[in-house]
Amino acid sequence: MSEAAPMDRLSFACPKCKRPLRSVDNALYCSEDNRTYPIAGGIPDFLSQVSLAPAALRIARVMDIVAPIYESRPFVSVLLKLSGVRAGPRFIEDIASFHVKTLQGVTGFVLDVACGPATYSRRIASPSRNVYGVDFSMGTLQQGMANIARDGMSGVRLARARVEELPFENAVFDGVICGGSLHLFPDTVLALREIARTMKAGAPMAVTTFVAGNAPLTRLMKRRKNMRVFQIPDLQQYLAEAGFEGFEPKLDGTFLTFSARKAMPRT
Ligand SMILES: [Zn+2]
Repeated sequence: MSEAAPMDRLSFACPKCKRPLRSVDNALYCSEDNRTYPIAGGIPDFLSQVSLAPAALRIARVMDIVAPIYESRPFVSVLLKLSGVRAGPRFIEDIASFHVKTLQGVTGFVLDVACGPATYSRRIASPSRNVYGVDFSMGTLQQGMANIARDGMSGVRLARARVEELPFENAVFDGVICGGSLHLFPDTVLALREIARTMKAGAPMAVTTFVAGNAPLTRLMKRRKNMRVFQIPDLQQYLAEAGFEGFEPKLDGTFLTFSARKAMPRT
């Protein structure tokens, strides 16, 4: 067992063997399997030697392109229209409020899965809550670093990693958020299990995603084999399989907001 990290910092772990990493010349090193992970522009890159699947590469490329406008009102309103969502112009702030509400009382470390340009990481960070954002698109992470610097924030750290191999030790996070990307993970249960691995028992998770419906975006997504369009009962089943409980869904058009908790160990 490793010692608990000090409150203000959580160390990254090797995404392969999950052991602590050693800092070397602008990189992190795993002596267990002799791997070096470079740090570029303050972003540890755990995917520099990983070949992403073609579907993931396509998504990463799209995200690289839209990163600078991802939080802009015109882009968000087009996305919402395509999703059949009735939400208003304060959409991002409303989702941020949902995340904050789910994390109410949570202090310590929060994981933002597929964090994009740190859109929600920045909005949920607080003096008592440090956020670790991971994404596989370097372009969005660089945009995220620029956003963090512009907002003068401390307490948000970003890394390039896959949800299937998170660069953290077991049971380190007090909460998790995952905004608008669960449907993009090829194997939902595998992704949820890996997220659960990094969470403390009873820790809450807030997720926004899409479910099956007749909106243009979900019709398009159904045709693309690399995107999942959920049915709520299936999602509930996936969460249970991955070790979550307390599923609380809320639907707006095809847009689903839900919270769940990592299950407590059975005694
Ligand atoms: Zn390792």
